[in-house]
Amino acid sequence: MRELWSPNHDERPPGVEVSLVVVHAISLPPGQFGGDAIERLFTNRLDPAAHPYFESIAHLRVSSHFLVRRDGALVRFVPVERRAWHAGASSWRGRSRCNDFSVGIELEGADDAPFEDAQYAALGVLLFDLRRQLPLRAIAGHSEIAPGRKTDPGPRFDWQRLLLDLASNRL
Ligand SMILES: [Zn+2]
Repeated sequence: MRELWSPNHDERPPGVEVSLVVVHAISLPPGQFGGDAIERLFTNRLDPAAHPYFESIAHLRVSSHFLVRRDGALVRFVPVERRAWHAGASSWRGRSRCNDFSVGIELEGADDAPFEDAQYAALGVLLFDLRRQLPLRAIAGHSEIAPGRKTDPGPRFDWQRLLLDLASNRL
């Protein structure tokens, strides 16, 4: 796993248990895979002049704990003990501010594109590992915790496949 530390994190509230995994999808520019724009965004180094879309997001201070590239390669930006800034205004089962108690995992992807086998495999291994470190109880898409505002990871993400892999420990 590659480590590329993001400055965009802070302390979790005292005593909070990290019980939720939030699955996201991102591609920069949207719908284009490859390149280093996601890494640049999460490390505050995105050049607003490099693409028209970047101008609207380069000022954002955001991060996730992990990114799964299209080939399954993992990048870690924030230690899970720290609060990454991935969920924004959000609520899970009546509890708001999901960043407080979640791990954020970005998959390089887009709403209208299927994800790669290598991404499911890498995500499964990562979740298996996280479950040994953290009292995880649920996994949700960004669209579930921020409905109406977010659509990722989108309709092409195969939840059943992921959950079957986890249930069978075929990892
Ligand atoms: Zn998201």
